Amino acid sequence: MGRFDLDREDMIALLKDRGISDARLLRAMASVERHLFVPEPFTQRSYEDSALPIGKGQTISQPYTVAFMTQALGVRERDRILEIGTGSGYQAAILCEMGARVFSIERNLELLATARKTLDRLGYRIATKGGDGTIGWNEYSPFDGIIVTAGAPDVPESLLKQIVDGGKLVIPVGDLEMQNLIVCTRRGEAFDRTEVHGFKFVPLVGKMGWK
Ligand code: SAH
Repeated sequence: MGRFDLDREDMIALLKDRGISDARLLRAMASVERHLFVPEPFTQRSYEDSALPIGKGQTISQPYTVAFMTQALGVRERDRILEIGTGSGYQAAILCEMGARVFSIERNLELLATARKTLDRLGYRIATKGGDGTIGWNEYSPFDGIIVTAGAPDVPESLLKQIVDGGKLVIPVGDLEMQNLIVCTRRGEAFDRTEVHGFKFVPLVGKMGWK
C-alpha cells in the first residue's frame, strides 16, 4: 500500500457522493497519483477536494472540478482530446489513463517543463506545446473534445472550429472572480450549449483570452 492510497479512496468516495458516475473516469482518478503532481509544501493535502498552488501563481484544479469537466467532455477510448492549460499535467494524465490521445498546450514554459518531467516519468505519452492555447492547435485538429482549464472571458471561435461534428468544447467562461462551465456540442455548423454555474479558475491569458 502506498502512503496515500487510503486518502485517494476517500477522494473517490467523495466524488461519487457529489454525483460523478462515469466508471472509467473514476477508475482513472483512482489510479493516477495526484500527489505526484502537487509540489511541496502542499503534497500532503493532495487528496483534499481543493485546488492547490503549483507555482507561478497557478493551481492544480480541484478534484471535483477535474471530474466534472472530464465527465462533461464524455471521453471515449482513442478520442483525440486537446487540453488548454497543462499546468501540473494531472488533467492530461487522467485523460491519458482513460485511453484518450492527448494534446496539451501551456503558456508557462517552466510549468510545462515540470509537467513533462512528471508525465514522462510515469509513462504517459502526451503531445505538448508551449504557447498560447486560445488559438488551438491547428496542425492536429480536428479534435473529438477540447477542455480549457483556465477561465475565459468568452468562448473562443478559434477553438469551436477545431472540433469534429458531435464533439465537445468544455470551458469556464465569466469574469475574473467567478465562471460558469460551458459545454458546447457541435451539430454541423451549429453548437448546442449548456451551462453550469459557480466555478473558479485561474485566468486564461492570451489572444482570445484575458490580456
Ligand atoms: N489542467 C491543469 C490546471 C492548470 S491551471 C492541471 O491539471 O494541473 C491553468 C493553466 O493554464 C495554468 O498553468 C496557466 O499557465 C495556463 N494558461 C493560461 N492561459 C493559457 C493559454 N492562453 N494557453 C495555454 N495555457 C494557458
